[in-house]
Amino acid sequence: MRIAYARIAQETHAFSPLTTTMADFERQHLKVGQELHDACGLLGNEAPGWTPVAELSGLRAAAALESDVQTVPLWSAWALPSGPITPETSAALRSRLRQSLRKAGPIDGLLLTLHGAMRGTGSDPEPEEGILQAAREALGPDIPIAVTLDLHAQLTPNKVGPADLLVAYRTNPHWDLFTTGLRAGRLLIRTIRGQVRPTSTWRSLPMVFGGGNTIDLLQPMRTIFRHMKAMERRPGVLCVNLFMCHLWNDSPHLGWSVHVTTDGDPTLANNVADELADLAWGVRHLQPPPFISPREAIEQARRKRSRTGAFCMVDTSDVIGAGSTGENTRLLRVLLEEGQGLTSLVPLRDAQTIEHLYDVPVGTHVRRTIGGRLDPQMYPPLEIDGRLVHKSHLGISGRAVTLDLGHIKVVVTEHAPYNLKPTFFWQAGLNPIKADVLVVKSFFHFRIFHWPIMRGSALVRTEGLTDLDMVRRVPFEHPVHPFDDSIEDWRPHDQRRREGSH
Ligand SMILES: [Zn+2]
Repeated sequence: MRIAYARIAQETHAFSPLTTTMADFERQHLKVGQELHDACGLLGNEAPGWTPVAELSGLRAAAALESDVQTVPLWSAWALPSGPITPETSAALRSRLRQSLRKAGPIDGLLLTLHGAMRGTGSDPEPEEGILQAAREALGPDIPIAVTLDLHAQLTPNKVGPADLLVAYRTNPHWDLFTTGLRAGRLLIRTIRGQVRPTSTWRSLPMVFGGGNTIDLLQPMRTIFRHMKAMERRPGVLCVNLFMCHLWNDSPHLGWSVHVTTDGDPTLANNVADELADLAWGVRHLQPPPFISPREAIEQARRKRSRTGAFCMVDTSDVIGAGSTGENTRLLRVLLEEGQGLTSLVPLRDAQTIEHLYDVPVGTHVRRTIGGRLDPQMYPPLEIDGRLVHKSHLGISGRAVTLDLGHIKVVVTEHAPYNLKPTFFWQAGLNPIKADVLVVKSFFHFRIFHWPIMRGSALVRTEGLTDLDMVRRVPFEHPVHPFDDSIEDWRPHDQRRREGSH
């Protein structure tokens, strides 16, 4: 048995001033053939900077449990959340996939890792539909395709239709990439052997908010995710998925959805899907946690000062993990003006400043405006006066210069400064443990890496691309909760939403 595997993944922020092109994938993560095989092996590093083992390593592990399954690496393209995919990029991704499937020779199944919330510009708003269609056309109707997705995916009939199996993350923050690939791989192998006959259904819910902070370890989502695991233990149920929607997606059908696969039993699939949809609908009134002002966050940071760690301020208005640009100056401005006495480390994207300063000697006095280059309306440029103290290269964040502005140290980066790990500041010549405040550009995932040095945290709001009310820009085609409070039940809306989202 031969199973091919590939990844084409990016989560799109539809309102970003940027677009995402092949060059972004090439610069950040593009692995082909043997290189992908090596990255997904026992000693590999499938997603450097995030996790050594992700979905495709999970498939490899599923195959290793069998004596007769060979895996065929195609390619893996992954880019940070950012602006929409251009039509040329979308076409290039499809054609690469077709070519690689042709070159792979006869295969018995395909595992494709997608994000599920990729959006495109112009004539191609749903690039993942075209990618899946290309895979289905290349393989014909009978070769099973398993697709893994982020739980922030947006389902549409043309994403659901070509796949035999959909398997989504069940953790938020997402630390189950490997097990998602393993689960999908095992189901795919059983499908190819004819041991199961995947029969799926889905529901589209008229809700964009709900579930509180949507963290799977905390209520109310903890109970729902546990319930989903119990559902999967019922005879005949193969896979149960819940999608909590990516808020910065401009799909007119944006909303939560559920997807259920059973072993040849459409009635069971419908019953389980309805049951899970009811559970999700039941938490729609639980709002996200309140975000606080920079001033309140500064007060909290002063109260929590510690010699052995730092207070993390989540810049919720500029979360790179949700597709923002990383050039927000608003929080930096308040820290400069009102955060005296707190040593604060702040990342900021500004490619022009890098061009200007990267070849200047360390120690140089710097006086210029920084930030707000890509969208000065959203993030006004800020005048600073300081000294260049360090130069570095920070992986996918590109070249960086560290500026000392007194109590504030700013790490200016060429590309988006995705500081998931405290090592970001170490590499920029700073000591995050001795700092009082670290500004982070991630909603949840930074916690996985910061907990040993984190002495408190706050969700801080200024104004920017990842504010939750950006969702009001979505051109909704149907009524949705919480913007239309006349919706009592999801049922009358589901069918129309699913059919309409072609
Ligand atoms: Zn996600």
